[in-house]
Amino acid sequence: MQLYNTLSAEERAELIDQAGKQRLTLSFYAYAKIQDPKKFRDDLFIEWNKLDALGRTYVAKEGINAQMSVPAENFEAFRETLEAYDFMKNIRLNVAVEHDDHSFLKLTVKVRDKIVADGLNDETFDVTNIGVHLKAQEFNEILDNPNTIVVDFRNHYESEIGHFKGAITPDVETFRESLPIINEQLKDFKEDKNLVMYCTGGIRCEKASAYFKHQGFKNVFQLEGGIINYAKQIKEENLESKFIGKNFVFDHRLGERITDDIVSQCHQCGKPCDNHTNCENDGCHLLFIQCDDCKAAMENCCSTECLDIIHLPLVEQVKLRRGIQVGNKVFRKGKSDKLAFKHSGELSDKSLALAEKPTAIRQKIKVKKVLLGKAEHYYAKAQVALFTIENQELNLGDKILISGPTTGNQELVLEKMLVNGTEGAQAKMGDKVTFTLPFRIRLSDKLYKITN
Ligand SMILES: [Zn+2]
Ligand SMILES: [Zn+2]
Repeated sequence: MQLYNTLSAEERAELIDQAGKQRLTLSFYAYAKIQDPKKFRDDLFIEWNKLDALGRTYVAKEGINAQMSVPAENFEAFRETLEAYDFMKNIRLNVAVEHDDHSFLKLTVKVRDKIVADGLNDETFDVTNIGVHLKAQEFNEILDNPNTIVVDFRNHYESEIGHFKGAITPDVETFRESLPIINEQLKDFKEDKNLVMYCTGGIRCEKASAYFKHQGFKNVFQLEGGIINYAKQIKEENLESKFIGKNFVFDHRLGERITDDIVSQCHQCGKPCDNHTNCENDGCHLLFIQCDDCKAAMENCCSTECLDIIHLPLVEQVKLRRGIQVGNKVFRKGKSDKLAFKHSGELSDKSLALAEKPTAIRQKIKVKKVLLGKAEHYYAKAQVALFTIENQELNLGDKILISGPTTGNQELVLEKMLVNGTEGAQAKMGDKVTFTLPFRIRLSDKLYKITN
């Protein structure tokens, strides 16, 4: 019984490419009482491994939190592995809009103390006594009610570029910090106001709503599936968006536009802007908002100090970094005295500018390729390469790719070849193929067929 990964990330990436199957990126979570997280973990691993599911999952006595990549054709079978558990019947699987076949290259399922680091002592309250889930339309309606207080349970750098109109946006760096602050700030409203909460994907509110009910709030509501799901619903149902700006997300995009409004400023020049940058100086890495002009002038740096540092030789940079880890701005998550236009705490709902429609964004074109075989020899004098076909077949006229660490990626169209020593139009599994190549290749370079 296999309970752990046997393939490296590289081998996995290659297998995924070879299979050429579409994969879905999805996430889900559920709070529940899990008696034996270790056994739960092992059971899931065995089932998911069979379905070629990959991803990062945390299980704990309090439930499960997962980010996965699943072959599209196995999606229903995957859902069945979840629905086998009562607490995951009809579970909402958030399927990402953009897919990346390599979003996950391993299957990891880890047992943790908690599925979200919330700093709460769960023994002291009933974590299953949660708030009322609201869909987008219901959420819009309750926001119109003057008796409603709406709270953003994300961090300052998330709410800065986009939030619900009228929301309280705590000036915090972690979820765990925001809980007591809000409890204190709203202590006089526990009886009669609607406490309405939201976060990115809904998971933080699951626990926060139970916590606030325990703290004595009578009317607690939460946005089901968070801003991600809200954005989907307002599009599908053609509803008004009461969220303005961008939704901060933790992948390479750093944000998903919900409305065209820009509600934040470039931290350096004050121009309306909502694009985050990580400071180019590896000893800083501050997350801040930077417009394209400042980006060019400052070379992606947050300050002239960092700009000076990135122009030093690497050895000098490493020396400078030594010993300053603790004071490192990385831990200040987007705050620096050098940034004059940073806003947190009370945020305005004013649209400062409208985002230009993205024009001519060059989409990265993905090459689809199938592994056919590997190089066995290169006859340097004759400039002829010998390959063994180990998968599928090779035909004259195929666009091929020869790839290896030294060779790099070489593409060409196959015009003539010898199959097992005689001229042929097709080579099958097990055949030895030779053809002329104007460049040297290395033993075990890979031969691919390009399929798009
Ligand atoms: Zn600027
Ligand atoms: Zn910096």
